[in-house]
Amino acid sequence: MDKEQENKIYNDAIEFFGVTSQKIMVIEEMSELTKELCKELRNRGDVEHIAEELADVEITLAQIKKIYNIHHKVEEQKDYKLKRFLHNMTELKRQTDQ
Ligand SMILES: [Mg+2]
Repeated sequence: MDKEQENKIYNDAIEFFGVTSQKIMVIEEMSELTKELCKELRNRGDVEHIAEELADVEITLAQIKKIYNIHHKVEEQKDYKLKRFLHNMTELKRQTDQ
């Protein structure tokens, strides 16, 4: 599916179900992903269910970014945090190599 079509579905979902409902949905979907990861850690889960719940979380997170109009802010935060993560990891590797 192309991005334009995906964005239209997100906008339609927010309009049809409402902002509050979609905020509740992301919380529910994150909880379902949490459950599937816990099941997998107990050797009772499977990758198919994890993939399904990850997709649900990504779909609902995309709507949350639209609701708050924060797509660019999220990308900025990701960029900052990934660079910080890389820096910290590089530093830890350097320390353990000594
Ligand atoms: Mg789900």
